[in-house]
Amino acid sequence: MNFTIDTITVPPASVRHFRLPAVALPSGAGVEIPVTVVHGAEPGPVLLVTGATHGIELVGTRALLSLVSALDPRTLAGTVISVPVTNPLAFDQSSYGSPQDGMHMGLPCYWPASPEGSATRRLGAALRPLFDAATHYIDLHNNVEPAVPMSMRFEDSCSSESVRQQQRLMADSFGFTSVRMTEPDDDTAQMVGRMDGHPAAAASAHGKPGLMVELVDTRGYLGHDLGVAGVRNVMSALGMLTDPVTPQDAHRLDGDFTFHGLLAASASGIAMPVREPGALLEKGEEVVHIVDMTGAIVDTVRMPITGFAWAYLASPHQRNGTMAVNGGHALAFVAKLEA
Ligand SMILES: [Zn+2]
Repeated sequence: MNFTIDTITVPPASVRHFRLPAVALPSGAGVEIPVTVVHGAEPGPVLLVTGATHGIELVGTRALLSLVSALDPRTLAGTVISVPVTNPLAFDQSSYGSPQDGMHMGLPCYWPASPEGSATRRLGAALRPLFDAATHYIDLHNNVEPAVPMSMRFEDSCSSESVRQQQRLMADSFGFTSVRMTEPDDDTAQMVGRMDGHPAAAASAHGKPGLMVELVDTRGYLGHDLGVAGVRNVMSALGMLTDPVTPQDAHRLDGDFTFHGLLAASASGIAMPVREPGALLEKGEEVVHIVDMTGAIVDTVRMPITGFAWAYLASPHQRNGTMAVNGGHALAFVAKLEA
């Protein structure tokens, strides 16, 4: 059977590249979103994968370009919809969000779809038919080093137990340590804002099991191969590929983890992580030193819980900044090991 989105038709066992018209700029230039559909010979799940939801996070973009060029639709069951650049407004300006309205696409922009809204909401509305066509969803992000790859499960957003189970299957097969994302429940860490706006959470709330993945930016995007392997693993787990799921050795910790929040410095200076990201740390262990310009340690940040830090943040974390931080600034994403 053909696969159809709007006016685009993709016959079985074929690949189609196209561009979705999304936003008109003041000059009249049109902004389009690049899409590739790989439609298999056999029926199966429809997996939507997005990269550069945040315009400076290009590891997922490279992963998707590699993934799609290596897929053979003749041996695929189901369909892959690849969106290597989800926010071209941000991507083209090397910006986290869209300069036009200051919004980034980790905020709610697919549900509800707002074709009459601001520029970023119009991108969301243009992409919404892809979500409607999808049965499963992966959103590829990245942190900047020092960081370890991980994935985020928005279990609390799932519309049903079966969506939750599929989300768990996707996280386990992708192969990284996965963290259940919840609002921090005490004041030993900072919040990062509401969870339910993340595209993977919103998709899960609308019956499409969604997984958000944080890859690691090496500037040359060399972390992309882990993303390719992870998406292929999910495809295998969903029966789209016949290859076995292969474990990813990269920093997978045993146990169940829950998001604990962002650790902050109390003093200003240069943040110097004293432990590798991804190491399991006991409650009370030192994580980051803040050093002043005499070399003195003016603040020691400790783990408020037993768990791990998956990324140490540049300042501010939504840009490619440095580790020079102001007091009160977020320093590390941490997850708590559940007993
Ligand atoms: Zn991101």
